[in-house]
Amino acid sequence: MVRFFLLFLFLFSTSSIANTKDLIITEKGDIFTDFEVETYEDKSASQSFSEIKKAKFAPHSNRISTGYSTSVFWFRFTLINKSNQDLIYFAEFTENAAHKVHAFISQQKPFNFSEERQGVAYLALGDSSDELLKPKFQINIKSGETKTVYLNILGRYANFTSFNIIDTPTINSYKVTHTGFYSLYFGAILAILIYNLAIFGFVREITYLYYTLYVASFLTWQLCENGFFPFDRFSSASHFYLNGLSIPIGLAFLVCFARTILETKTRLPKIDSILKAITSLYFLLALNAVFFTQASFMAISFVTTFSMPFLLYSGIKSYKTGNKSALIFLIAQTSFLSMSTLFSLMTEGYLDYSLTTKHGLIAAFLIEIFIFSLAIAYRIRMHEQEKTNIISQANQDLDNKVKERTLELELSKKKLVEFASKDPLTNLFNRRFLYQMSNELIGIAKRENTPISLIIFDIDNFKNINDTFGHAVGDNVIVEFSKLLQQTRECDIASRIGGEEFLLVLPNTSEAGAVEIANQLLKKTEHLIIGTDDTSLSFTVSGGISSVLTDKEHGIELAINRGDQALYQAKENGKNQVQSFTSY
Ligand code: GH3
Ligand code: MG
Ligand code: MG
Repeated sequence: MVRFFLLFLFLFSTSSIANTKDLIITEKGDIFTDFEVETYEDKSASQSFSEIKKAKFAPHSNRISTGYSTSVFWFRFTLINKSNQDLIYFAEFTENAAHKVHAFISQQKPFNFSEERQGVAYLALGDSSDELLKPKFQINIKSGETKTVYLNILGRYANFTSFNIIDTPTINSYKVTHTGFYSLYFGAILAILIYNLAIFGFVREITYLYYTLYVASFLTWQLCENGFFPFDRFSSASHFYLNGLSIPIGLAFLVCFARTILETKTRLPKIDSILKAITSLYFLLALNAVFFTQASFMAISFVTTFSMPFLLYSGIKSYKTGNKSALIFLIAQTSFLSMSTLFSLMTEGYLDYSLTTKHGLIAAFLIEIFIFSLAIAYRIRMHEQEKTNIISQANQDLDNKVKERTLELELSKKKLVEFASKDPLTNLFNRRFLYQMSNELIGIAKRENTPISLIIFDIDNFKNINDTFGHAVGDNVIVEFSKLLQQTRECDIASRIGGEEFLLVLPNTSEAGAVEIANQLLKKTEHLIIGTDDTSLSFTVSGGISSVLTDKEHGIELAINRGDQALYQAKENGKNQVQSFTSY
């Protein structure tokens, strides 16, 4: 029991005695990337180094993520060179662009520390490294020597970084890896950017512009953060921090892009106005960040915590209204959002700092912008299809309308023609129409070398009928005979050319055929019984036939003339008979 107590006392005493963490170099080339140090938070950010040396440090890993803080964070460790060589080591931070980083490294004499300054704040003073913006401090350590190192860091926004204890060859290989990785990454983004910008040039679709501006903002921010051209030289801290404006501006363009791809203006007007407000808010915060940097960036983080899930919500809503490109947007946005949420949790100090999280975000961004460009292309395709559908529908409608209109016109023309060309009493064609029509029919007969004949009918002793039964009965006789004439073939044209004189034009009919038709009509007429007030009557007609001489210049006038002569002959011969012009 006592032994246990003593052991406990011993453990307790050793841990309290050894108040620095030892990193032991056993041979040249040993490096430290994941190790225990001690940390201390100076909340006042004003303690002097001699005060810090007396402060109570607590064990911690070499990674920190403190969130937005105005405290100064201290690290302490001891480096011991147990190799037989004098060595040069570096304490190098893994993240760029720390605001202020100080190192206090013990010299030969104990309690004598040298001080060095790194970070964006010292750009103008020339203290900070001007190539990559990673703070690093040289530690010269001779064989057998022990050095105590204090590092402190004061962030401008959020602190998330780690530091490694490495030698020159490792630094160089890190640099090569870093440069290679980012060159490839930025190259890919740049290619996507230029490609989509070119498409915008051709298609003039605003979505492409918002998209490229979003990508360009992100690219600017990352190029600057990683000290790449053209952001590899800065004259001052404020000059450097202006780069942070890319974030709210980029997010504003992302929201603009989302509005176009999700078609919120037409599909979801309420959501659209909220998204518009978010866009304006980002631009305002960007402007504000020029003057009140840290407060603005805290606000931007806060707004983004809500705006990004809201974008997802908008995407789902838009998809539900039938917007298929919203689904592609959702896929891209969800993968990026899950990574950026992890990243935010890390920067805000809720998750441990890890390079994997940072690289995950970078990869997710590349995937996101790639899928986004697919979404735009898909959307344009959908629009083209919609346009084609609308156009063909419109064409169809127009076609139908034209057809309808034509039919209407044709019908009304027909009515007009009928009205103008028909005899009101009998509904037979009148003389004027007959002349026109007959000449056309004769033309066809001549062209096709077919016969065409006509018969002129005149009601026998019509004066008597009028005189005996009255004018109305006479009219009735005219109407009844007209009905008989209309019962002939479809292609025949029956017309009333005088009071009780009629003309029947028979296309494709020879003289003999016409004689036959005329005789049939005469028979039918004989059998017609016309009722009067108190009795009934029957009547007869005479006909004159003339066949058109299609091989000669022979028009309707001449044919009628000849038919008239034949009719005269029929009357002369005793009426109720037909005569052909050529048969006498
Ligand atoms: P024919 O056998 O020689 O033809 O003797 P006809 O009495 O028929 O003599 P004509 O052909 O010269 O007589 C025509 C008469 O028809 C004269 C006119 O009063 C009458 N008429 C002409 N148009 C109409 C009409 O629209 N209605 C009636 N009811 N009579 C008409
Ligand atoms: Mg007559
Ligand atoms: Mg007559």
